[in-house]
Amino acid sequence: MTSNPSSAASTYDVVLIGGGIMSATLGALLRQLEPGLSIALFGRLDDVALESSNGWNNAGTGHSALCELNYTPLRPDGVVDISKAVNVNEAFQVSRQFWSYLVESGQIASPRDFLNPIPHMSFVWGPENVDFLRRRHAALQEHPLFAGMSLSTDEGQLRQWMPLVMQDRKPGQPLAATWHPAGTDVNFGALTHRLIDLLRGRPGFDLNLAHEVEDLKFAGSNGWDVSVRAMHGGGERRVRAKFVFIGAGGGALHLLQKSGIPEARGIGGFPVSGQFLRCTNPEVVQQHHAKVYGKASVGAPPMSVPHLDTRVIDGQRGLLFGPYAGFSTKFLKQGSWLDLPRSIRMDNIGAMLAVARDNMPLTKYLIQQVMQSSEDRLKALRDFVPTARKEDWELITAGQRVQVIKKDAKRGGVLQFGTEVVTGAGGSIAGLLGASPGASTAAPIMLTVLQRCFGDRLPQWESRLREMIPSYGTKLGQDAALCAQVRERTRTALQLDG
Ligand SMILES: Cc1cc2nc3c(=O)[nH]c(=O)nc-3n(C[C@H](O)[C@H](O)[C@H](O)COP(=O)(O)OP(=O)(O)OC[C@H]3O[C@@H](n4cnc5c(N)ncnc54)[C@H](O)[C@@H]3O)c2cc1C
Repeated sequence: MTSNPSSAASTYDVVLIGGGIMSATLGALLRQLEPGLSIALFGRLDDVALESSNGWNNAGTGHSALCELNYTPLRPDGVVDISKAVNVNEAFQVSRQFWSYLVESGQIASPRDFLNPIPHMSFVWGPENVDFLRRRHAALQEHPLFAGMSLSTDEGQLRQWMPLVMQDRKPGQPLAATWHPAGTDVNFGALTHRLIDLLRGRPGFDLNLAHEVEDLKFAGSNGWDVSVRAMHGGGERRVRAKFVFIGAGGGALHLLQKSGIPEARGIGGFPVSGQFLRCTNPEVVQQHHAKVYGKASVGAPPMSVPHLDTRVIDGQRGLLFGPYAGFSTKFLKQGSWLDLPRSIRMDNIGAMLAVARDNMPLTKYLIQQVMQSSEDRLKALRDFVPTARKEDWELITAGQRVQVIKKDAKRGGVLQFGTEVVTGAGGSIAGLLGASPGASTAAPIMLTVLQRCFGDRLPQWESRLREMIPSYGTKLGQDAALCAQVRERTRTALQLDG
């Protein structure tokens, strides 16, 4: 691949679409691997990290399955399946290693700007759920990635771990919680800014904010012609890119459809919006220091598990409770009501109708969520904070998630809750759909993009990749010694000592 480091040039090695954590991570990785590449980033808003990656637009959980019960389903034979939890934790360890490398090499000055140690807890009530949590704990505690998890049903211990949650709680109900000290709160917005700062001002990098990508046309061996419109006047222009990454969050589906690649045919999107209750009253905030995840209600999508989180945003502590799901036809928080109708095509309408037919519990759940009054929301909060007062909590709107709908031979269409990397045109284009586990796994997802789109460069990059991510190419879950080493190194580098 040749490079053209002139910022005036309209031909780039790489065009990144979108100013969120995904584009920022890919840009930062490529900059480490091949500093000579010319890279342009186009983002439609006036700054980076104003959509889902913004600190208050997501829950900031460093997803590593230490507390999220949906990653450990109970099988019909009574065994808790931990395979998904292991994958999610492995993926987060990759992100931790990449961030550690950036800190150790002096490229990020202070990890506390974006990452804070906050214990991760699961909390359940009722005999059946207590039994489930015991089984989950027993299955996880043997595994090197989860070593250090404690379980308790003792009220005194629970009060120590989460005083706010236990205050004025009705006696007589069986309760249980697990607690893990290695949990984190991540301000993905701050991290996006740090990563963009690594690129900004370097020769060969063009940051184009307030520029919306409108169209993409394949130009054969020359790559892609990308049509861009300046948002505040200034007209349209076209740039050429050898490789395009569509990191446009909810906007990715439209752009993948416009690219015309066959790999995007048949895919649809189902938007789910989210709201949180936020508390910044220091008297309340100081009584809680954990991310406490509960169990999802029947019919609720996996990302709607209720949780009460300590957040640290720009040095300020706050509490977040939610999410309350909602429905909006927008694909981006700052998107258009026409986003959903515009995404419906002949090739995906069958899959979308099949999903509508097969997901009645989800539809019912969303209708019930949308109809909620502020009293209903307070009631849900009081399951976690029995003493909660309305005046301490404000309702905020989070980012949009667009879940992936895919064709399915048997059912016509299926709704997926994970992330999906779509690549095409000989690896000259990649787009990211979906949002779970999301930002936590940005680094491993971008490694997948490198593997699928830069296969010819990988042999050259491999030693550099291992330097940055020592577990690259291995499974930490199968190497207890390396796992302990990686956990210790990243704990120290990222200042996660609690
Ligand atoms: C309610 C909620 C809670 C979440 N909680 C967590 C959590 O606890 N932990 C976790 O790890 N993840 C979480 N996530 C997921 C996480 O926020 C996302 O996976 C992640 O932020 C997605 O990053 P992104 O870069 O793909 O997209 P975004 O951050 O949404 O960025 C997309 C960018 O593309 C731009 N764009 C869109 N269209 C165009 C266009 N045509 N031209 C140019 N630019 C364009 C947008 O303006 C924006 O800058 C949560 C998400 C939500 C919504």
